[in-house]
Amino acid sequence: MEKKRLIEKDPKLKKDDLIVIGGAGGFIGGALARYFTDKGFTNIRGIDKKPLPEWYQRVPGVECLNLDLSNDKNCERACEGAVEVYNLAADMGGMGFIERFRVECLRSILINTHMIEAAYRAGARRYFFSSSACAYNTQLQQDPKVTALKESDAYPAMAERGYGWEKLMSEMFCEEYWAERGLKTAIARFHNVYGPNGTWDGGREKAPAAICRKVVEAIDSGSGKISIWGDGSQTRSFMYIDDCTKGIDTIMHSDELIATPINLGSSELVSINELVSKVERIAGVKLQRDYQLDAPRGVAGRNSDNTFIRKMLKWEPNTTLNAGLKATYEWIKKQFEARKKGRRVVE
Ligand code: NAD
Repeated sequence: MEKKRLIEKDPKLKKDDLIVIGGAGGFIGGALARYFTDKGFTNIRGIDKKPLPEWYQRVPGVECLNLDLSNDKNCERACEGAVEVYNLAADMGGMGFIERFRVECLRSILINTHMIEAAYRAGARRYFFSSSACAYNTQLQQDPKVTALKESDAYPAMAERGYGWEKLMSEMFCEEYWAERGLKTAIARFHNVYGPNGTWDGGREKAPAAICRKVVEAIDSGSGKISIWGDGSQTRSFMYIDDCTKGIDTIMHSDELIATPINLGSSELVSINELVSKVERIAGVKLQRDYQLDAPRGVAGRNSDNTFIRKMLKWEPNTTLNAGLKATYEWIKKQFEARKKGRRVVE
């Protein structure tokens, strides 16, 4: 996009400057609240429409507000006094959710529309939007032997119906708030994020968590079987949560990336069959695979082309899938066992 604006240097972010995180009760928003707390920030406000007991993480010292951010007045309240605003709130889930609930996904546009306006009016210095690889043209993703997606592949636009179009439109808001109004915005296109403290059951979980849970269940029940959506040949890359939070921070504070969509994902491509084999190895089992060919499977293949992020940040998400899956499997196993013993866990 054309950039006519001069970029003024920000004052240094102070440890008590207010950081606002929309969707802080969710997986990535919760991890981000913890990340900034660990970095010594003392004035963090998290907002989510979920009741507080259902938040994945309640980070000590973080102000937690239970508000629906699709409402403009609530966004004003959320952004009062904000120096930086991170919007991680969206109605979303894995393929099972986004293929069935397109209207819900599209309605997330209300959240970004009101949050960015509220951030602007509150005089926030920077605004972050969590976009997705689903914003890319789906016609480029028909072959499991994928060519990795680079940033320019979003146009000509043919995004994932519902969810992907909402992301693309919200990206455009971020680009225009910078171009017309001078709000410094950051846009990261996440590629499948996974790790502890995320959705692992209930229908919104994504492939890594779903497979870890199914392996735990198969061991627990002694069934010896695992059901797999599709024929397992579909390929993806998966980014560990710690790489995601680090990437959000770095992209948000890069003056070269203002209002510029950038991939934030791992480029380690695996098929779903390979993902299952990795989890089996971690768990020390071999299961019989039952392929559900009529289940949602999404595009045939998708990977992140990291040429741009490497060039701009001299870094890319680099936690290996084996290491990340091990931590995720252990966490899900613990949740499963706790739930079995009747303890309350967040799913
Ligand atoms: P999540 O579902 O765990 O978290 C999203 C949170 O937003 C939830 O806690 C939900 O209650 C909250 N929310 C939804 N509607 C709201 C509303 N109206 N008001 C207030 N809160 C609301 O999802 P996540 O994995 O943490 O995803 C965070 C962001 O990253 C989303 O924008 C998502 O689209 C994007 N993203 C995630 C992935 C991934 O693999 N997890 C991939 C691409 C993009």
